Order: sequence, then C-alpha cells, then structure tokens
Amino acid sequence: MERRYRLSNGKRIRLVEGDITRIAADAIANAANSALAGGGGVDGAIHRAGGPEIMRELDEIRPRVGRLPAGQAVATGAGRLPAKYVFHAVGPVYRDGRHGEPEALASCYRTCLEMAEERGCRTISFPAISTGVYGYPPEEAARIAIGEVRRFLEQGPSSVEEVIFVQFGEPAYRIYERLLGESGLEEAQD
Ligand code: ADP
Repeated sequence: MERRYRLSNGKRIRLVEGDITRIAADAIANAANSALAGGGGVDGAIHRAGGPEIMRELDEIRPRVGRLPAGQAVATGAGRLPAKYVFHAVGPVYRDGRHGEPEALASCYRTCLEMAEERGCRTISFPAISTGVYGYPPEEAARIAIGEVRRFLEQGPSSVEEVIFVQFGEPAYRIYERLLGESGLEEAQD
C-alpha cells in the first residue's frame, strides 16, 4: 500500500505500509531510546537489518552524549540498510500528553529533518515514533508528525525533496491516509 502527495512547491510526502528497513531513502529515522542501546520494535529491526556497524558507532557516541533526552537525535551510518544515515531520535514516553510529550515528539521530527538538510539528503523516512512501546496515541502522534513535516517542507529551500512515512500495519497506515487526505494535499499520480 502506498500513496504520494505533492505540496504546492513540488516537495513530496510518500505514505507506505511496510518495514522501514526495506525502503530506500538517504536517511532513515529510528525510534531509539535514551540509552542508545538498541531495543525492540523498529529499533531492533533497524539494528538487525543494518548489521553491527550501527551499534559500533553508537558505542562511540554514547560516552560523549550520555543519556539522550526525548526530542533529540544522533546520526550514524546505515550499515547494510538501503540508506546513507540513520538518525536515532528519542521519542517521549507518553503519560497524559501534558508532560511535554507533544513538544518532544515534534522535536524528534524537526531535528531529524534538520539533520537530513545538514547532510544534503534528498529523502528521509520516518516510522511512527513513540507509538509502540512508548504508548503515544497513534492519531495524535500522526497529526504532530504530519504537521512538522509539512511545516519543514513548506518553509523554503532545502535539500529534502521527499519525506516518507512508513507505517507498520494497516491500521496505522489508514490513520495517515485519512489525515493526509483531509489536509488538502494534492495526490500525485506518478
Ligand atoms: P517507541 O518505543 O518509540 O514506541 P517502537 O519501536 O515500539 O518505538 O514503535 C514505534 C512504531 O514503529 C510502532 O508504530 C511500530 O508498529 C512501528 N514499527 C515496528 N517495527 C517496524 C518496522 N520494521 N518498520 C516500520 N515501523 C515499525
């Protein structure tokens, strides 16, 4: 399942259902944890598919940054993944939405987009950060993700031409499909 949308300035948003480790992009965002120590979910999938090189790089980064707060991210290479970089973003653990979770989640997306821009990336893919073990309600998280991505893509010149939302499973895909459909974006046919 896949849909493509085009912004008025020609930038694109792609929505895909599937495994983020199998979709080519210049950069892949990862839903990491503060310890940068690997985990389950999409983090586990990225390390398994990318190979040990990614963890070796994180082993070097960890002593420098300590525990990474929610909303921040660090970059590594992508090992065997079909990408150049992985941006390990720490999503917020959801409590009730009044403990800075929306701001931290927005910051994950913004930070990864800025890191992509700094590295001249043309495409970046995102999983639904925080919506697994961290318990963020999927629709609230999707609104934040789409809002931040649109703001970034609309704000002027940038190397980033396409942002790919990779949703794991049909229910998550359908939420994005509905929100993107309601947002008035033009659907691209090519
Ligand atoms: P968090 O701890 O930030 O909640 P999780 O990895 O538990 O991170 O879940 C984040 C989202 O990633 C969930 O919606 C989950 O369904 C999804 N996910 C899990 N594996 C993959 C994968 N291989 N590709 C894309 N998304 C995935």
